Amino acid sequence: IEPRSVVTRFAPSPTGFLHIGGARTALFNWLFARHHGGKFLLRIEDTDKARSTQAAIDAILDGMRWLGLDWDGDAYFQSRFAERHAAVAHEMLANGHAYRCYMTQEELAAQRAAAQAERRPFKVNSVWRDCAPDAPSPDAPYVVRLKAEHEGETVIEDAVQGRVTVQNAELDDMILLRSDGTPTYMLAVVVDDHDMGVTHVIRGDDHLNNAFRQLGIIRAMGWPEPVYAHVPLIHGQDGAKMSKRHGAIGVDNYRDELGILPEALSNYLLRLGWGHGDDEIIAREDAVKWFDLAHVGRSPSRFDIKKLENL
Ligand code: GLU
Repeated sequence: IEPRSVVTRFAPSPTGFLHIGGARTALFNWLFARHHGGKFLLRIEDTDKARSTQAAIDAILDGMRWLGLDWDGDAYFQSRFAERHAAVAHEMLANGHAYRCYMTQEELAAQRAAAQAERRPFKVNSVWRDCAPDAPSPDAPYVVRLKAEHEGETVIEDAVQGRVTVQNAELDDMILLRSDGTPTYMLAVVVDDHDMGVTHVIRGDDHLNNAFRQLGIIRAMGWPEPVYAHVPLIHGQDGAKMSKRHGAIGVDNYRDELGILPEALSNYLLRLGWGHGDDEIIAREDAVKWFDLAHVGRSPSRFDIKKLENL
């Protein structure tokens, strides 16, 4: 089999500005694709209509252009593919990897309360998982759930984290389609990555837990598995996760308020989490030549605004 040529993607949710963590994720994906002569795609994950805004979309596109991170082809808007996402859920129903769950809110609440009382993590236990697909009544509302593997373990050979394992008993029968027929985020990501031909999923390690669940869908569909690379998040100088109190965290703040040049910010973000000897300044073309996942650090990076200002 011919190895598939590299396709990466940056998949921001347009619920706010482009923050430095997102910019670094975009940069790593861009560098990896360019290094391998592959494609770098942009997917706007605008399925949460209530929280997605045009202003955020503009800020993200703007920030990426400013940083020189050009994407191949047109940006892909996730919300336009809801029918395709639903069609995949129906395929999974047909091949027995998903089921219609008619549990009521009261039944779910009772299970949740029981788990809480016994101090164990809540995991839905649906009687509909293994029964004949007869609805309790013709118009009873249902959600479509993944028939998750509950035995054994799932292993991910992550290009940054190394081997990561989860006990399948911990994975739940997550919802794929809500009772109004709309796809969940978890389903949409997997279908889009597959349809876009994504070979390498490089993103923040806050998504590592999702990867195990997303693999459940990928395997149920018999699709090729992407290489995962979960990059540790950027922390502030105090070790806590970056937030507003660490000062400016939007890319536009650096540009507009601090007057930082895109080359400086991009260089700083590259050095934050990826090591190449002692070089302080790495030209873009050298970064493309040298970038690899093997030298992405495994521990959280500390963001130091003074270093950035001195560049
Ligand atoms: N939209 C997600 C986020 O902004 C990223 C999803 C992914 O990279 O798989 O956190």
